[in-house]
Amino acid sequence: MTETQILENKLDVYAIRQQFPILSRDVKDKPLVYFDNAATSQKPRVVIDALSNYYQQYNANIHRGIHTLAEEATMAFEATRDSVQAFINASEREEIIFTRGTTEGINLVAYTWGRQNIGEGDEIIVSVMEHHSNIVPWQILCKEKKAVLKVIPVNEEGDLIVEEYQKLLSDRTKLVSIAHVSNALGTVNPVRRIIELAHDAGALVVVDGAQSAVHLDIDVQQMDCDFFAFSAHKLYGPTGTGVLYGKKRLLESMPVFLGGGEMIKEVSFEKTTYADLPYKFEAGTPNIADTIAFKAALEFTSSIGKQRIRDHEMELLSYATSRLTEIPGLKIIGQAKEKISVISFIIDKLHHQDIGILLDNQGVALRTGHHCTQPLMQRFGISGTTRASFAIYNTKDEIDIMISGVKKAIKMLS
Ligand code: PMP
Repeated sequence: MTETQILENKLDVYAIRQQFPILSRDVKDKPLVYFDNAATSQKPRVVIDALSNYYQQYNANIHRGIHTLAEEATMAFEATRDSVQAFINASEREEIIFTRGTTEGINLVAYTWGRQNIGEGDEIIVSVMEHHSNIVPWQILCKEKKAVLKVIPVNEEGDLIVEEYQKLLSDRTKLVSIAHVSNALGTVNPVRRIIELAHDAGALVVVDGAQSAVHLDIDVQQMDCDFFAFSAHKLYGPTGTGVLYGKKRLLESMPVFLGGGEMIKEVSFEKTTYADLPYKFEAGTPNIADTIAFKAALEFTSSIGKQRIRDHEMELLSYATSRLTEIPGLKIIGQAKEKISVISFIIDKLHHQDIGILLDNQGVALRTGHHCTQPLMQRFGISGTTRASFAIYNTKDEIDIMISGVKKAIKMLS
């Protein structure tokens, strides 16, 4: 790249920050420094406006109405499905199922495909770095079906040990369910390779995309995953809505999930028939407003471009890593070969919760605790970490504020 191209490609972070109203508020009389993006990102004005515009202009229930408001709401809701299809490069719009988020998407697969296809002695593989949302549904299923849950280990750096995964695969493996990116360590897992190996063994693969959809280019056809679940709220979109992608032939072959309105063709006491995809899996009134506003979030992300988002965030990650490493007694948990902008750390003799509270007093929002990954914390022999996770609107100046906050906290607590 020439110098001019680099400059043109450079992000105007300060212009982007203007689009996020919340970033101008103070916390404890200090300007907010929001580093809890892996838990949920902040929302740009376009998303907030889309949400309020729906309620102010065309609030109506979707799909069944013939009046103007119902038609406008239906069109806007279905337009999000088209945007999601393009965003993850799904081949069919029917493959996009709206859910409440990643957790519901994974549970949907467990309760439908899982109940139909998992039997006694079958094996499901997850990894030790999974979020509880990608452990507990499979534990429930395994208990019910007398199946076995197997666990891929990670090394000290936080990389999955692929050779150990290969050893776990057998003709008893029916499913592999794996995080694309770890929320606690930031590790990017080699999902393409994991999927290839699973398919060779005759198993299907669920990818938990909760942390990857905002940072990485997602192409479900190229990845060849069987299912991909993610949430809008980690992607500059609203809470309470998300997506389960599934290959059409699998979704078609699966039994229904929740029963009720929207998911039926005809109901009688003798026999009920079910709607075609995607409505078969969308029982009841969905989260119309948030799903409509999700489209604005996808457009916001695409208008900046994932590569530019990544470049900016990687610059922040590498700056934060080198600054944190300067601090005596501080240890970074998770130094995988490929990472996104999540940095987890522990400090000698200090409890992560105390650090979190002292940083909050300085306006810095960090996440502390086990990050819904207790088995991973057990693997590292710790009860939790302090985690900073960066988004498109964060800056190096904010990292400096966090660093001086951490140094101050160490002085106060030791
Ligand atoms: N998986 C991962 C890797 C996550 O980070 C999260 C959210 N922290 C989830 C699953 C669950 O997502 P949600 O709470 O939006 O359903």
